[in-house]
Amino acid sequence: MQGYRAALLRFLPDDTMERIDDALVVVDQGRIADAGAFDAVAARFPQLDWVDWRGRVLAPGFIDVHVHFPQLDVIGSPAEGLLPWLENYTFPHEARFADPAYASAMAELFLDELLRNGVTTAMVYCSSHAASAEAFFEAAQKRSLRMVAGKCLMDRNSPEPVRDDTRRGLAQSQFLIERWHGRDRLGYAITPRFAPSCSDEQMRGAAELAEAFAGTWVQTHVAENRDEIAWVAQLFPDARSYLDVYDRLGLLRERSMFAHCIHLDAADRARLTASGASAAVCPTSNLFLGSGLFDFKAAAQAGFQWGLASDVGGGTSFSPFRTMLAAYEVARLGGVTLSPQALWYRHTLGAARAMGLDGLVGNLSAGHKADFIALDARVTPLLARRTGSAWSLDEWLFAMIVLGDDRAIADSVVAGTTMPRLTPPSRTG
Ligand SMILES: [Zn+2]
Repeated sequence: MQGYRAALLRFLPDDTMERIDDALVVVDQGRIADAGAFDAVAARFPQLDWVDWRGRVLAPGFIDVHVHFPQLDVIGSPAEGLLPWLENYTFPHEARFADPAYASAMAELFLDELLRNGVTTAMVYCSSHAASAEAFFEAAQKRSLRMVAGKCLMDRNSPEPVRDDTRRGLAQSQFLIERWHGRDRLGYAITPRFAPSCSDEQMRGAAELAEAFAGTWVQTHVAENRDEIAWVAQLFPDARSYLDVYDRLGLLRERSMFAHCIHLDAADRARLTASGASAAVCPTSNLFLGSGLFDFKAAAQAGFQWGLASDVGGGTSFSPFRTMLAAYEVARLGGVTLSPQALWYRHTLGAARAMGLDGLVGNLSAGHKADFIALDARVTPLLARRTGSAWSLDEWLFAMIVLGDDRAIADSVVAGTTMPRLTPPSRTG
């Protein structure tokens, strides 16, 4: 059993946040056994050893509901929109993940980068190569991380090195499900890349797999970019909309995560809500690729679940602070003001709900897995000054969102183990 003494941020039953300035979190066998005001908790555990992290703020680890592990090196690649970006940067780069040694090295780097930014759970695209998913799951298992991932299915309209075969892609997915889904803290997401790159037969097969293997996830992209939508309309002339392509093939369901959801209409949003599927909102990616602005007002009216996501490499940062700030700015352009607590919720507890993982991760209370971060609001002079003068929790959170970055993540704790703190490689010579 291990205690951590610090300030504490967590969600109350009504989904608002509370801050306890002097708190104690007790971890037993990777789980939170107790958390609350120091004096009260310490009295219940008189023999407890605790780490003195006073000056830091403990908070739930961030959850990124849509990110591409093979796109670590694609970040910051300029292009005239989604389709040229895929063709010129992303597909050539993802081709390298056929090599297991390369995929393993990149999986380590990717997870290091997530943890350095305080992200302890994510829903992850691998490349179309089974080797990339193997490498990712192995690296995540080593760190005891709660991760959901899958290899891309893409049997058409993509270059040969990243294209898979309809039946072979499905057979590989089934093999990976049987090998990794439910093993330790790992889960499998059946991953049709996006409708233009998948045949009807492959998407139907994906839906059959999701039906056959209980608890598996589905992840894909929808309604990101206008050129993409026009292409989908050509490829699927009978579908009412882009989302309807997936609906007809059985992919709209609980535990399905649809990235972007920008250019939806009211019927799509109602269908998304009724199906129990969720949206991954990726504002830095949508701004970088010029895809469009997520409609936060319409999402609230429709009532579907959504969480925030980096969408690296279309997204420009692994940092949840950058993503929350971009979400705030995009919402403002749509006449909606998202509170700092609401932004934080969508990257932690709300994201856990969108993935169907609430009760397991996303909050810092007894029974949850001990996945949390220690924030240090003093790492830059301006952040220290601005958080120091905050007169409310919302002000403090907002200062973190606007001024914080990976330097403010002092430590990430996964299943009760403090992850090694990674520093950039030093230059020699
Ligand atoms: Zn994506």
